[in-house]
Amino acid sequence: MGVADADLESDGIPTSYVPFRNANLVSVAISYAEATDSEALFIGAHSEDFSGYPDCRQAFFDAFQNLIDVGTKPETDIELKTPFVEWSKTEIAERGLELGVPYDMTWSCYRDEEPACGTCDACAFRLEAFRNAGSRDPIAYAEPPVTS
Ligand SMILES: [Zn+2]
Repeated sequence: MGVADADLESDGIPTSYVPFRNANLVSVAISYAEATDSEALFIGAHSEDFSGYPDCRQAFFDAFQNLIDVGTKPETDIELKTPFVEWSKTEIAERGLELGVPYDMTWSCYRDEEPACGTCDACAFRLEAFRNAGSRDPIAYAEPPVTS
């Protein structure tokens, strides 16, 4: 599944794109990481994200790693890790199921209140990943998930 054409701006960027969001989130996390002498920061961007969101691409994270290296104290050594950047959401869901991830405690929806909408891109990718993994998403949705 991909993002529907109707959900794309003329430049191919999904309408759900939050401008430069990951730069802000990673910046805040790196501030905390440096203050706590952390050695790594993990971000869960995956391949379906970077198909549309510029700040989910490996090139963005590589550039941000350079920013971390030049923008922190000389003795600071924080590695920005992107373990899922080449994975599909289905592969992530499958691995999580193998590991017993408590998916009922996770959230993907762009809504800020329960239940998840079931229709935004994040919900659609999540529901498809669970279907592809042969499992059921344990969280509640406002729109009943399509079962096929
Ligand atoms: Zn949603």
